[in-house]
Amino acid sequence: MLIDGRSLPDGSSLDTEIVIIGGGAAGITLALEFGRWNIPTCVLEAGGTNYSRRSQALYAGEVAEGLDYDLLSTRTRYLGGSSNCWSGWCWPFTEMDLSKRDWIPNSGWTIGTEAFAPYYARAREVLQLSELPLEAKFWIDHVRESNVQLLPFQADLLRTVVAHFSPPARLGQSRRAELEGSHSTKIILHATASNILTDDISHQAKGVVVKMPTGTTMTVNARFVIVAAGGIENARLLLLSNGVQKTGLGNQNDLVGRYFMDHPRIRLGRLTFNNPVSYSRFYDVTYHYKNNSFAVSGTRAGATIGLSEEVQRREQLLQCHTTLFGSYVGESRQAVDHCKRVYAAFKRHEHVDLSDIARMVPGIPAATAAFLTRSTRMRRLVKHYTLESILEPVPDPNSRVTLSDQRDEFGLPRVRLTWRVGDLEKRTHRRAVELIRQQVEEQGLGRLEIDGDPWDDSWSDRVQSTWHHMGTTRMNPDPKLGVVDENCKVHGIGNLYIAGSSVFSTGGANMPTLNLVALAARLADHIKMLHDVSPLDLSSAHPPRVAAE
Ligand SMILES: Cc1cc2nc3c(=O)[nH]c(=O)nc-3n(C[C@H](O)[C@H](O)[C@H](O)COP(=O)(O)OP(=O)(O)OC[C@H]3O[C@@H](n4cnc5c(N)ncnc54)[C@H](O)[C@@H]3O)c2cc1C
Repeated sequence: MLIDGRSLPDGSSLDTEIVIIGGGAAGITLALEFGRWNIPTCVLEAGGTNYSRRSQALYAGEVAEGLDYDLLSTRTRYLGGSSNCWSGWCWPFTEMDLSKRDWIPNSGWTIGTEAFAPYYARAREVLQLSELPLEAKFWIDHVRESNVQLLPFQADLLRTVVAHFSPPARLGQSRRAELEGSHSTKIILHATASNILTDDISHQAKGVVVKMPTGTTMTVNARFVIVAAGGIENARLLLLSNGVQKTGLGNQNDLVGRYFMDHPRIRLGRLTFNNPVSYSRFYDVTYHYKNNSFAVSGTRAGATIGLSEEVQRREQLLQCHTTLFGSYVGESRQAVDHCKRVYAAFKRHEHVDLSDIARMVPGIPAATAAFLTRSTRMRRLVKHYTLESILEPVPDPNSRVTLSDQRDEFGLPRVRLTWRVGDLEKRTHRRAVELIRQQVEEQGLGRLEIDGDPWDDSWSDRVQSTWHHMGTTRMNPDPKLGVVDENCKVHGIGNLYIAGSSVFSTGGANMPTLNLVALAARLADHIKMLHDVSPLDLSSAHPPRVAAE
């Protein structure tokens, strides 16, 4: 059932078994699981069912030191969360992703791939993926496209890493009917959780205070509270909930908000193949998303160039995955990039200044040429390929989410973010590009040109976000090293749980969503087990007045 929070009377309250804060990929996965088991559940979703500028503006925040970071466009604040705009790349975690590596400070999980494995089938179902293998050879043998070749790199240096693509699943739409049809699930829209209530010694969460854009407030009382508001807001909400524990819930060891990670993403270079058509079929990312002919049984796949595990160990490097972006005639110019940015802002109904439009005008002829050549989708019109590398981030306690002095429309402190990227990331990026260049030349595949020295002091200016927010409530069984335990329960609080990539201890050079959805399914099983042990007596529950949106 969908309920418009704006229609609920001020001061109303609701009793339920489980309250989930956030209706993104993690929150919806949990709600679907509890709905199938008929466990009374309430999902609090800050936005509505569609994009709204007012709701999105609540994600604005302050960037402190470190790299620049766009807090507004790297996440989406309405039902479905960032699944409304994600690209659908999916990789399961590998042993290497989760392992402790001595040369990477704070690396490693205390659970292994065996903890994720039983849950990938459910995660694939949520994200509309099949169980096809990820081995490159399988795809080469089975795709309908002809003349597809793997780049013949030396295996102890570079390897082809295959990803599956979700359609991409827009969960607020694709799962809406099931969520609405569930008798035990209530989704309250336009409902911003502002404070998690606890008992006087903050050992038990009691419920959540919720604010609506109409200025009204309600309380949801629950036996289990799950925070699934995204990798940045999860930490913010714990820090905001400081009524009893003055430093914020779960923050007795000053860990909430620390270890913020995103995957540093850098584009550079011009790779020209002697035989571009056959290699680009698998590796050119511009084709992956819509390339239905590169599909087997409806699942699409794409390839990236990864560092081999041997080279990572031998040279003490992080993980790095590099994809190729086909660049058409007219593209790769600043003016064209500006046109693309303004167009994207229009599409997202974001504010565009007159100065943006003025800067866009000179790029229109080249952008039109680029648009026309790109829409032919003819690989022969690709001039060259730009390398885009996505790096594993080092978990750094000084990369962190804290609370700003600025306040949002509810009067709540906004987020303050520091994102740092260090020397190991830079060294790994440099080595990965060097190895690609060396292999391309040695194997006679073509040439890679790079302007100037991208690894000079301005290297970090090239680093962009990959829109992945991880680490701010990291998992570790030791409360001095992590905010949540291995069941995603906040240390010291009996019934408060966290879902989403904020619990990731290390992020790999990996796409988070398949893994965070698997972890949410695992958390659902854990809570169901606790619920079955002593289900709540709901006979005294007072449902709120209900109005469908
Ligand atoms: C442009 C883009 C491309 C991406 N591409 C990929 C990709 O290819 N592969 C991949 O794996 N990942 C990708 N991602 C990341 C992926 O989208 C996220 O990992 C995933 O959506 C996170 O899910 P989540 O449920 O944890 O958080 P979110 O999606 O952030 O959902 C959180 C939800 O909580 C709500 N909320 C927030 N605060 C509150 C509050 N106080 N009270 C109530 N509700 C609240 C929000 O409105 C939102 O609906 C991409 C992201 C972006 C932005």
